[in-house]
Amino acid sequence: MKEIKILYLYPDMLELYGDYGNIQVLKYRIESRGYSVIIDRYSIDDDAPDFNNYDIVFAGGGADNEQSILAEDLIKYKDNIKDAIKNGVFFLLICGSYQLFGKYYKDVDGNIIPGLDVFDYYTESNPDRKSRCIGNIVIEVELNNFKTTVIGFENHGGQTFNISRPFGNVLFGNGNKFNDTQEGYFQNNVIATYLHGPLLSKNPVLTDYIIKYCLDRKYNENIILENLNDEFENLCREQLLNRFLK
Ligand code: GLN
Repeated sequence: MKEIKILYLYPDMLELYGDYGNIQVLKYRIESRGYSVIIDRYSIDDDAPDFNNYDIVFAGGGADNEQSILAEDLIKYKDNIKDAIKNGVFFLLICGSYQLFGKYYKDVDGNIIPGLDVFDYYTESNPDRKSRCIGNIVIEVELNNFKTTVIGFENHGGQTFNISRPFGNVLFGNGNKFNDTQEGYFQNNVIATYLHGPLLSKNPVLTDYIIKYCLDRKYNENIILENLNDEFENLCREQLLNRFLK
C-alpha cells in the first residue's frame, strides 16, 4: 500500500489557531484515497529525526517566547533540513515556523532570534505589541498552473521582507506585512505562510496539491487523486469568499 510519512515538528510548542487540524486533514484525505499515513512527532529532547526519511515536514505557529526556545534546537538540524528541501521533501510551515526558516526574526522586544537561513527572507516584529496583522485573509495562488483562492486566518506582529517568490497575492487581509500585496513564500516543495485556520481544512485543493506532489515524487508516477465529496468544504468556502470579497 502506498504510504505518506509526515514529520510533525514541536507539536507541544507550535500549535496556534487550529494548526494541528492540518495534520488531521492530511490524514483524512490520504486515507480516504486508500493510502496509509504515518505521523511522527518531534520535539526538544526527542531522538534526532532524519528529515530525508519523510515525505512531508509540518510545523505550526507559536508565540515569540516559544520561538526563541525552540530556535536553538531547530538550528541543530540546519544541514539535514537544507538537504531534505534540496531532495524535494515537502515542507509546510505556518507563521512562527515560516519566520524561523528565514535569516532571522526580530521579536517584539527587539531580540534577534537567528533563523535557519534556509531562505533569504527575514522578519521584524512591529514594536507596538498592540498593533498586529490579525484577521481573516484570502490570497490567490497558482498551483500547477492553476489559479485558486486560499482562505485562512492570520495573527502576527512579524513583518516579513525580501520575499523572492510569494505564496500568493493578497485579495483580502494583510499578508507578509501590513496591507501587503504578497503573502508567504513558495517553491515547488515548500509552502511557508502566515495562514492558520487551519489552512488545509478550508482549502482542499491545496491539501490535494501536497498529497499528489508527495505520491508522484515517492512513487515516480503522475497520480490522479480520486475525487472526494467536498460539498461542505465548498459551501463553507463559498460563504467565506462571499463575506470577504464582496
Ligand atoms: N510570534 C510571531 C509573530 O507574532 C508568530 C505568531 C504566530 O505564529 N501566529 O509574528
